[in-house]
Amino acid sequence: MPQHDLVVIGAGPGGYVAAIRAAQLGLNVACVEKEPALGGTCLRIGCIPSKALLESSLRYHEARHALAGFGVKVGSVELDLPAMLQRKDKIVETMTNGIGLLFKKRKITRYQGHGRLAGAGRVVVEGPGGATEIETRHVILATGSISAPLRGVEPDGHRIGTSTEGLSFAEVPAHLVVIGAGFIGLELGSVWSRLGAKVTVLEYLDRILPGTDSQIARQAQRLFTEQGLTFKLGSRVTGARVKGDTCIVEYEGAEPIECDRVLLAVGRKPCTDNLGLDTVGITLDERGRVPVNEHFATAANGVFAIGDVIRGPMLAHKAEEEGVACVEQIVTGYCHVNYDAIPGVVYTEPEIAGVGKTEDELKESGVPYRKGVFQYRANGRAHALGQIEGSVKVLAHKETDRVLGVHILGARAGDLIAEAVAAIEFGASSEDLARTCHAHPTLAEILKEAALSVDNRPVHA
Ligand code: NAD
Repeated sequence: MPQHDLVVIGAGPGGYVAAIRAAQLGLNVACVEKEPALGGTCLRIGCIPSKALLESSLRYHEARHALAGFGVKVGSVELDLPAMLQRKDKIVETMTNGIGLLFKKRKITRYQGHGRLAGAGRVVVEGPGGATEIETRHVILATGSISAPLRGVEPDGHRIGTSTEGLSFAEVPAHLVVIGAGFIGLELGSVWSRLGAKVTVLEYLDRILPGTDSQIARQAQRLFTEQGLTFKLGSRVTGARVKGDTCIVEYEGAEPIECDRVLLAVGRKPCTDNLGLDTVGITLDERGRVPVNEHFATAANGVFAIGDVIRGPMLAHKAEEEGVACVEQIVTGYCHVNYDAIPGVVYTEPEIAGVGKTEDELKESGVPYRKGVFQYRANGRAHALGQIEGSVKVLAHKETDRVLGVHILGARAGDLIAEAVAAIEFGASSEDLARTCHAHPTLAEILKEAALSVDNRPVHA
């Protein structure tokens, strides 16, 4: 029977990073993955392919609508959707193969098949060639999540689908109805809208992007509406079915909508089916997650869990941090993840990014704060880029000035937020950010000016 120090079940960003860190620390490590390609949802059918399509669709949209404004005349612009999809698939192939190379280099053993616990210190892999039993001292469950179902909505994998289908429509839908104005709904809704689809977003709540700073979310909704997306808020979807070539989507409070494609994006749920949890005495919590302590340890000795399958935001980078921390805990007996410094990014145009507390959370918890806001339109680089919509908001403690949260709506927000994450990680004050030299002309100056605005002394406003 093969023996390992550590078996990681799942090769998504949580699992593969944990496996690499374990190999770096000298463990004899194996990773079990049911798909032939490594990388999990993120690399195969999530973050990476969606970003490829977001970039392609943006180029197409800019060539048609924006380049003339930059003084660039182009002839007729045509969409080559098969080439766009092929480019996306090629990027996925490159990235997933890359993980395979990293595994080889680190001498990480790969098992292809469905992994499950089989009592203490045992994992069984049901692979294409039959079942393999493995002996191991430690197991990390990193099985991720799948699209959450919605009662009354039956994905048929064609007209009614989840993000997986939404990444590969063979033609541009005439009318796409998106259920859920969260990360996936807005990103994929943007892709198909730019490529020419009419897009209607049905959202149960009275706002988009629950959990993000509500002021930023309102501004973003205005911009997305100007871009052509139609939002129907307070619209709880109760059913969707296919009738011939059309789909009928029913929601509370209004007549059903007819469309030719439906994208179901109402969240994700942890992947725990057939994991053998009962063989080691693990029971799921009320939301179907694997309960863990602050060291990622489950109720079973030697079994740990990280990423989407445990509590916290379902984000690839959160899973990566946990993967590293969990392995370091196993090897060194110490680990730490700062959950106040985990950024969230929505890759729309403009992007939305945030870290730390939102203004809503600070108000709710009664923490005294000061706020500095600075607009993109007062920044020279934003004008050069042709992207003057948006703002940066810095929230700092009223007495200590410690940065508590930063929220950005604007071009390249996803890159700019890194400085704010570092500021929070190092316990910086808004004064620290304000006194840090920022290259000119860059968008990063907007963050500096927002920090100066906390003390009411912006230079360019
Ligand atoms: P989400 O939780 O972000 O949004 C789901 C939305 O659906 C919510 O606004 C919710 O109110 C709405 N909803 C629920 N039931 C509904 C109903 N019956 N009718 C209408 N609306 C309804 O979920 P998602 O967009 O599916 O994304 C899933 C996960 O994947 C998230 O946890 C997200 O963090 C992650 N993700 C992250 C990124 C990124 O980091 N850029 C991108 C994609 C997905």
